[in-house]
Amino acid sequence: MGQRLSCVQQQHEEHGVLFPALASGELEVVEAMVEEDPTVLEHTTGCDRLSPLHVAAANGRIEVLSMLLDRSFNVDVLNRHKQTPLMLAVMHGKTGCVEKLIHAGASILMFDSIRRRTCLHYAAYYGNIDCLKVILSAAHSTPVADSWGFARFVNIRDGNGATPLHLAARHRWPECLHALLDNGALVCASTGGYGYPGSTPLHMAARGGSLDCVRMLLAWGADRLQLDSSGKIPFSVALKHKHKACAALLDPSSAAPLVWPSPLKFISELNQEAKALLEKALQEANREREKTILKETDMPPSPLNSESEDDNIASEASDMELCCICFDQACTIEVRPCGHQMCAHCTLALCCHKKLDPATTGLSGPVCPFCRGSILQLLVAKINKISDTEVESSPMKPRRSRKSNFSEGSSSFKSLSAMGSFGRIAGRNSGKITDEKQ
Ligand SMILES: [Zn+2]
Ligand SMILES: [Zn+2]
Repeated sequence: MGQRLSCVQQQHEEHGVLFPALASGELEVVEAMVEEDPTVLEHTTGCDRLSPLHVAAANGRIEVLSMLLDRSFNVDVLNRHKQTPLMLAVMHGKTGCVEKLIHAGASILMFDSIRRRTCLHYAAYYGNIDCLKVILSAAHSTPVADSWGFARFVNIRDGNGATPLHLAARHRWPECLHALLDNGALVCASTGGYGYPGSTPLHMAARGGSLDCVRMLLAWGADRLQLDSSGKIPFSVALKHKHKACAALLDPSSAAPLVWPSPLKFISELNQEAKALLEKALQEANREREKTILKETDMPPSPLNSESEDDNIASEASDMELCCICFDQACTIEVRPCGHQMCAHCTLALCCHKKLDPATTGLSGPVCPFCRGSILQLLVAKINKISDTEVESSPMKPRRSRKSNFSEGSSSFKSLSAMGSFGRIAGRNSGKITDEKQ
């Protein structure tokens, strides 16, 4: 305490006006001081040796920051802990300053001396999703991508072996977790390294107790049976810290969730819109499984499982053509090149059907269930609204129950055949197929 006080005093005596002016963004005051004595910018705060740039960045003072950078202030100046102004801006969630610093050439590949962390670790640790996205997009275009490789940067380890994904999982930031996974973070990365056992992001999520994080890691293929350095699986970690709901999902004896089929080439090449549809289908399918698991363990259902959301989906689907596999959901996904359509749930079930082996996937990927043709691409189907006359002439329009099984045909199959073809083909007359079937 006494030491802290003396630091503050020292700072106050040396430059009592400069740093408060920097912190509160008083551009004119700072400019006047610099005019009078340019060396004032070489000053640092007493204890942590923060430079003027650190103080402006941490407080989100873009104008002051720009002024300093215009005076060719070293953008990667280090404080006592070898933290750059960029790290402090990320830590405090000052996205504007993060953008400005990166634009001015700040390196995203600097390591602090506390835990050897990068700015990406900081973003994941503090859960600043906007900063995280700015850094990831910078990593695509800066020399880091060329020299280090983007994938290596995303999976960069700190002094304890933790990747940014570990930190996002530990500190309960599902959004950051998702952005990192989406950018190639390895879901089974271990803090051990070099063959030694260590904690995976799933262990960290079990420790942190975020159901969203656990759910997401499992859906991205995290292994429930991997051991940490003390021989524990994530399930035991969750139990130890009394995160019951997480433990229920992590219990190796409970039903395994559907896993996002990332090794499939056409899945890795999905456009944003199609990807969003399929991810939503994955979440919904897993939530159904989760309900059963949590019910068995007397856990309250997840708040995300609201009935009203289900109703919305049903009404959305009501004016679209039904999927001819499940007769339950609207056709939202189109297979290329054949053009057959089905719902996102069935598409996903098809892709997740067998355990994917990256080595052989290229040879035995899923095929279109209608024509057995290979799938090269999945797109969002163009909405073909059923014409008014058709709706009127089919009073037997089946009621959709979202609880019906994917693979089981609906009992109202016959009434459906009047409504449409089996396996819709976009932009083609499908009447012939209908005739054959009837
Ligand atoms: Zn379907
Ligand atoms: Zn087809």
